Amino acid sequence: MDEALLARFTAITGAQNALTPQTHDLTHYTHENRKLVVGKTPLVLRPASTAEVAAIVRLASETGTALVPQGGHTGHAGGGVPDESGTQIVVSLERMNFIRDVDPDGNTITAEAGVVLQTLQEAAQHVGRLFPLAISSQGSCQIGGNISTNAGGTGVIAHGNMREQVLGLEVVLPSGEIWNGLRRLKKDNTGYALKQLFIGAEGTLGIITAAVLRLAPLPKGREVAWAAVPSPHAALQLLNLSLDMAGPGVTAFELIHRTPLEFVLRNAPGSRDPLAQRHEWQVLMEISSGRSEQDARDLAEGIFAAGMERGLVADAVIAETIAQRGALWKLRDDMGPAQWPEGISVKHDVSVPVHLLPQFLERGAQAVAQAAPEARLCAFGHMGDGNIHFNVSQPLGVNGAAYLKQRQGEIQDRVHALVLELGGSISAEHGIGRLKRDLLIATKSAVELETMRAIKRALDPKNIMNPGKVV
Ligand SMILES: Cc1cc2nc3c(=O)[nH]c(=O)nc-3n(C[C@H](O)[C@H](O)[C@H](O)COP(=O)(O)OP(=O)(O)OC[C@H]3O[C@@H](n4cnc5c(N)ncnc54)[C@H](O)[C@@H]3O)c2cc1C
Repeated sequence: MDEALLARFTAITGAQNALTPQTHDLTHYTHENRKLVVGKTPLVLRPASTAEVAAIVRLASETGTALVPQGGHTGHAGGGVPDESGTQIVVSLERMNFIRDVDPDGNTITAEAGVVLQTLQEAAQHVGRLFPLAISSQGSCQIGGNISTNAGGTGVIAHGNMREQVLGLEVVLPSGEIWNGLRRLKKDNTGYALKQLFIGAEGTLGIITAAVLRLAPLPKGREVAWAAVPSPHAALQLLNLSLDMAGPGVTAFELIHRTPLEFVLRNAPGSRDPLAQRHEWQVLMEISSGRSEQDARDLAEGIFAAGMERGLVADAVIAETIAQRGALWKLRDDMGPAQWPEGISVKHDVSVPVHLLPQFLERGAQAVAQAAPEARLCAFGHMGDGNIHFNVSQPLGVNGAAYLKQRQGEIQDRVHALVLELGGSISAEHGIGRLKRDLLIATKSAVELETMRAIKRALDPKNIMNPGKVV
């Protein structure tokens, strides 16, 4: 890229916050976290304010320079990394990490885009409130990234996706203008809801610089339990029983197949099966109460007693201590990393209507067995949201890359065809980014795709915001 132009961008943040390949190792900014996309950039800018972001985007608009917004770099779709051309400038929000306001009376928190999710959760807890988005990358992902991917996680069953937490946004538009939409309103029917366009847009329509987020009451009691269920169908019935008995008190309901549990037991030091017997399917459940610890305990015990009576629960354990609660959650959190030592896998982050999940699991397993009979199916996820991570791991003792090169296409085609037949989504919570762009094109109707492209053209006519991603 033209040195004079790079110098103009550098002048906006100052040389200290303009990193180049000549002065820094930029691998962290250019490689997708699992190295599935390896890009290049001439410059990483680290603005400290909305005004600096706006100045960067204005210059990019004037000169037709492509920008890639980046948060905590934990995304699973390759949306936050530049392409291989070496012409896209990365704009990292990491220095915009100031919490502008915490309001326990209004139940809102106003934070800059670069605030790390866990920092935000702690700030809410400090004033006796809950910020309910919970994902295992929360120690490094950022609010701007969470909004831009409409992140999900384990709390969605009770509190909804990130979209449901956003009351207002501040966004630098592709023209470089600042849209201050930092409203704290629950009700606002004044024309098109612009904020909804930027939520889940993966940085293709503007750069989010700050947000007003909704806070929830902090539960007074919380129980975490692990239960063996005879089948996914029994798990569905247990889910509905739990919702009948505890309503919004069901704050997590995760379905786990034996294989991912085996991977954790084998690869995560110190982990152990919570139940004495080996079971094919299990559920990790969290029950919360706004009243008391005893109330949460009573609810959890009541659910399991009723579940056992109806043959929906084969065995169960409720954590007795905070450490035991942590150990149960750790089994679930380790399910992502525990797959790495098992070799390569084909991943599907899919959703179907909740009641069809047992059917999806049964037919999906048959489809995988036809396409790759020796592969190991590793299914786990957010049953309460109909969202399952339906991963297919290579067989042991073979060259994984070669095996999956041969089988990947057929596995994915079969799984996605089933998802679509059941009225589901090919990307439930990880977004489209770059890795699923072709899949989006192959699976959306022409009218839906063209409407998305029209929105992109209207807001970003010069195609400078994260080009090559999503649409
Ligand atoms: C161990 C692990 C567990 C995970 N579990 C879950 C889970 O349960 N549920 C879930 O939904 N996801 C999960 N993820 C995926 C990931 O953490 C989320 O997608 C997260 O929201 C990404 O945030 P980030 O700050 O890392 O964004 P990045 O990865 O940096 O960026 C993601 C996308 O958002 C855009 N972007 C980032 N910041 C901005 C901004 N300020 N303005 C405009 N665009 C921006 C980027 O361009 C990119 O397209 C997990 C990831 C890991 C590694």
